[in-house]
Amino acid sequence: MKALTLIVFGAFAMNAQAGPKLNLPDLDRAAVKAEAKWQRDVDPEDVYVSADWNWMEMTQADLIRHALPVLTANVELCPDDVVTLPVDGENVEACGFIPYYDQVNPYPNAYTDGSYIWITGGMVRAIRNADEYRSIVAHEIGHVLADHIKKKRRRAWIGAAVGALAGAYAGGAADQVHDMAALGASFGAMAFSKKMELEADYIGGYMLARSGGSIKTASDMWRRFGDGGKGSFLGSHPSSAQRFVLMRDIAAEYKAKQDNGQPLLPNVK
Ligand SMILES: [Zn+2]
Repeated sequence: MKALTLIVFGAFAMNAQAGPKLNLPDLDRAAVKAEAKWQRDVDPEDVYVSADWNWMEMTQADLIRHALPVLTANVELCPDDVVTLPVDGENVEACGFIPYYDQVNPYPNAYTDGSYIWITGGMVRAIRNADEYRSIVAHEIGHVLADHIKKKRRRAWIGAAVGALAGAYAGGAADQVHDMAALGASFGAMAFSKKMELEADYIGGYMLARSGGSIKTASDMWRRFGDGGKGSFLGSHPSSAQRFVLMRDIAAEYKAKQDNGQPLLPNVK
């Protein structure tokens, strides 16, 4: 089993050099249409189940700590970006991406330059639980691992990310994280295609599940952040109905792999 895991993973990693050719589940049109109708008819506020996210007390260090399960459970998926961090006195391998809390930005948004992941104040306020937060972090990392962000840009930041992550894990020293808010705004303007968004959702869904998070929670988040079935949320983005159906399909694909003892990795062509 172990050998098979390594071979399959090798395929993913090799593809990652030139951008993996991901093999996403086909979106069933009828399911998307039915979901869009459902979202039109239901108040998004009735969707969420658990709410244990106290946004008013969230700090820079909290955002890093809450991301830790996603960063440490997915080292296998980020071979080019692995860093070693001191966590509770022990050295732990993790994917080298650092959440940056852009607290003054009131618009719910998240974006990445390949090393930092900007999470706006509006987003922290909109989040209801840690799984929702982790699904956002995992989605942004998904953009990086699918090579939507040019590698040259990523390399420039990785050293800074290691220092900032290590500082935050060691004692939550927020001032070790550079003031990146202004720079982040320029990445926020970067638009991805619909296809890229779905690819990031696909990798992100796996990363969330591998870290013990609930894909179902992530899919419900798309109902809550929904566009009311209109499909125009943020212009170039897939509709929240498409994203809900994709997440549900990923959950089924992931569970089938678990049941069959297959490697828990995104499908590549
Ligand atoms: Zn995205």
